[in-house]
Amino acid sequence: MYYDCIVVGSGNAGSCAALSAKENGCQKVLLVDKCSPEWVGGNGYFTAGAFRIVHNGLEDLLPIVQNVSPEQAKHIDLDPYSHANFIEDIMRLSGRRSDPTLAASLVESSRDAVDWLAGHQVPFILSFHRQAYEVGGRQKFWGGLVLSIEDGGKGLIAAEHEALKKAGVEIWFDCPLVNLLVQDGTVTGAVVRKDGSELSIESGGVILAAGGFEANSKLRVTHLGMGWEKAKVRGTPFNTGDCFAIAEGVGAKFTGDWASCHSTTWDFNAPEIGARNLTNQFTKSGYPLGIMVNANGVRFVDEGEDYRNYTYARFGKAILQQPEGFAFQVWDSKMLGMLRKEEYGDGVVEKIFADTIDELARKLSGIGLMDQAQFVETIQSYNAAVTQHKLENSDWHWDPAVKDGLSTESSNLSLSPPKSHWAESIDKSPFMAVKVCCGITFTFGGLAIDPVSAAVLSESGPIPGLFCAGEMVGGLFYNNYPGGSGLSAGAVFGRKAGASVANRPNIRK
Ligand SMILES: Cc1cc2nc3c(=O)[nH]c(=O)nc-3n(C[C@H](O)[C@H](O)[C@H](O)COP(=O)(O)OP(=O)(O)OC[C@H]3O[C@@H](n4cnc5c(N)ncnc54)[C@H](O)[C@@H]3O)c2cc1C
Repeated sequence: MYYDCIVVGSGNAGSCAALSAKENGCQKVLLVDKCSPEWVGGNGYFTAGAFRIVHNGLEDLLPIVQNVSPEQAKHIDLDPYSHANFIEDIMRLSGRRSDPTLAASLVESSRDAVDWLAGHQVPFILSFHRQAYEVGGRQKFWGGLVLSIEDGGKGLIAAEHEALKKAGVEIWFDCPLVNLLVQDGTVTGAVVRKDGSELSIESGGVILAAGGFEANSKLRVTHLGMGWEKAKVRGTPFNTGDCFAIAEGVGAKFTGDWASCHSTTWDFNAPEIGARNLTNQFTKSGYPLGIMVNANGVRFVDEGEDYRNYTYARFGKAILQQPEGFAFQVWDSKMLGMLRKEEYGDGVVEKIFADTIDELARKLSGIGLMDQAQFVETIQSYNAAVTQHKLENSDWHWDPAVKDGLSTESSNLSLSPPKSHWAESIDKSPFMAVKVCCGITFTFGGLAIDPVSAAVLSESGPIPGLFCAGEMVGGLFYNNYPGGSGLSAGAVFGRKAGASVANRPNIRK
């Protein structure tokens, strides 16, 4: 049995790889996934569909988005996001550890990849509900991230798989990769398990797009450390990291941040693995509008350190490290209308309301708060610090769409940790809290690849016939991550990998 290209993983990276292989001339493309058809799309299905790309502002994006009328466009403020901005965000958040050539390759091809996907009927929209606030009658975008997809990850995977069907890509579900075929150092095919037996398939090239190891609690403990067994998995349960061992078996080099991952603020009551109906709605990202306290009633992060896009991917870890591994997010009535309905709507999350802070503390003690007095004290001292800052900066205005500088730090009061932006008092009833935990999204360590061809590297150079894309790639993200980069990276390197297989000398066109 022979296929020109075998792709492993039906998520965003694998779908882009298979489509690109076909478009660039591979006649027979096979995509295998170890999941059943109901779990198609890997973590891609669970996403918000946010894509971070380089662009020149509103006019540049209007041709590819489907949700902006000419009248609406007049009321939108959306700054360009340059090549240098994107590179700097990756470098800044990785502590300058990201591989600069890999980052440059992602950034340079990000816009083109989105145009390509739009050409395949992926329904891009401007992300009003997640990335903009209405300020003075205008929609003001913030955080460099502006694109999303109609119906989020569900819409993305539906569109990509429709395109795969049209292109004639064959897909086998319930079919894990278990090994690679190698001849004289070249990968010549794959061994998969199908209908209970192992099947060897010759191929012109194999592309690994099988996700990270976030759904494997043992590997989490091995690489991320003790405690990570308790994290909830935000997406697919099938990303258990098996393909890393398979790649290692043929000499692939590991790189990147194996000790860290993307993890965020997640509904404490969410299931242990992702749920196909609510997907990303278990995310609880409203903390910049309020505060977070732990079981001892103490704050533990700067909720206003930066735009949410730049902090959310490491706040899951911060919560995991708290006593009992959970926290409460708290707001007063001034902010409740600004919380996103998809995350905080009725029926989506358990909301605890109270008319006074004392009453809120009492109610929270029923679901894990261990020190009511400290909780009350934390809010009182937070309010005092906010008030003092306002007194000293009476002409500053609260504005969620910019880093407004409204903080807890003044000449004679400061908090540890501070709240650096969007600090507003919590003093107007009703008050509301929700309980959150750590949801792990994906892991950062992975395979070393060539930034141009996406070929998997060994210590001595590219492994002929083996390519990699998506979460399996290492070296891009360290400790933190600019929101919306995962889908862009998957599309960019998936596309490159597919084209590279099609351009191999042994592929008959
Ligand atoms: C809740 C949530 C929200 C997110 N939101 C966003 C967002 O809005 N924007 C963004 O950029 N990123 C987001 N991400 C991150 C994003 O999902 C990933 O960066 C991206 O989807 C990874 O794509 P991938 O194709 O590499 O992996 P996946 O989409 O996870 O696909 C991997 C596939 O490989 C399969 N597989 C695993 N092992 C094997 C094997 N041995 N054999 C065969 N198949 C195998 C799995 O079953 C799976 O289907 C989010 C993630 C989650 C969980």
